[in-house]
Amino acid sequence: MQSSITLLGSTGSIGKQTLDVVRNLGLTVESLSAHSNAKLLADQCREFKPKRACIGEEKYNEFKLLVSDIDIEILCGDEGVEQLASEDESESLVNAVLGMKGLKPTVNAASKGKKIAFANKETLVAGGKLVTDAVKAGNATLLPVDSEHSAIFQCIQGKNKIKKIWLTGSGGPFFGKDRDFLKTVTPEMAVKHPRWNMGKKISVDSASLMNKGLEFIEAVHLFDVSPDQVEVVIHPQSIVHSLVEFEDNAILAQMGMPDMRVCIQYALTYPERKPSQAESLDLFGQKLDFFNYDKTAFPLLETAKKTLKVGGNLPAIMNGANEEAVALFLDHKIGFTQMFDLVIDTCENINTAPIIKNPTIEDIIESDKAAREYVRSHI
Ligand code: MG
Repeated sequence: MQSSITLLGSTGSIGKQTLDVVRNLGLTVESLSAHSNAKLLADQCREFKPKRACIGEEKYNEFKLLVSDIDIEILCGDEGVEQLASEDESESLVNAVLGMKGLKPTVNAASKGKKIAFANKETLVAGGKLVTDAVKAGNATLLPVDSEHSAIFQCIQGKNKIKKIWLTGSGGPFFGKDRDFLKTVTPEMAVKHPRWNMGKKISVDSASLMNKGLEFIEAVHLFDVSPDQVEVVIHPQSIVHSLVEFEDNAILAQMGMPDMRVCIQYALTYPERKPSQAESLDLFGQKLDFFNYDKTAFPLLETAKKTLKVGGNLPAIMNGANEEAVALFLDHKIGFTQMFDLVIDTCENINTAPIIKNPTIEDIIESDKAAREYVRSHI
């Protein structure tokens, strides 16, 4: 088990739950980073006593003042985060950064051969092979934190010959609704997920099924399977967190109460299991349903599959367009289904053709920027 961790994104939903796990396991925190919540980051520094902390540039002065009485090195901005990711002291990096900003820190940590507990799906969607190649080259380990991917990872331990991955999704708060209803969805409605307590961006992605599209791509990269081997299945109860079917048609499922702390903890204690803070699942009376998803009402999952097939920098374009569209939606600037139209339009019409087959980190960052500009100029 790891003794010390660096946690990027410590004030978000996964970040806070990671610190819960850190308390439970008694781990040492080497460094923390947060984007804008200076107050909470300062509180966390008092409790966990990291050597370094990094905060977004706009909050640097505020944060500095808040921790002026404690002995801590303060870094700031994207460069600070990249520096934390490549420091030598910690064995594990928990990447709970939101969005593809996590790309460079992930590659830095990979080059240092770290164990990377990975909760930053946008980075894998945008960076794809570049990330998995960096992990191989640096002899690093990518341990999934996303509940579905943690479930798949747990099911395949010691086994090979995967026939199929059954990637479950709850269907989000608008499961069963049609396009006309979806047009009326507000940010307040979209961030209320029926099963999981999550941050705003992922809640919106979950409501639009884009989250499942991102996770589809994530699964293909993490488990080195072909897109044809991944099947999405809607499971509204969120008790089965995903399943793996093997060559002999046996299917293994990982089940439990929906609580991210189990996934985070397994990524930190792997291959060991330890007592967790999650509730135990009472099987009596549980009903487990499995449905197909509605491609017409929720088109973004198909878009994600298509962009993965084309490959190259197109998934980065799709992800950039989606991050921007979600931000605009949360800001009440566009409607819920307008997000679908903008992401699809960007993927089909953005003028960065021809597609870059083997993009570099710079290509991916450029594609992401171009996609965001395209979205902003088409609303
Ligand atoms: Mg998930």
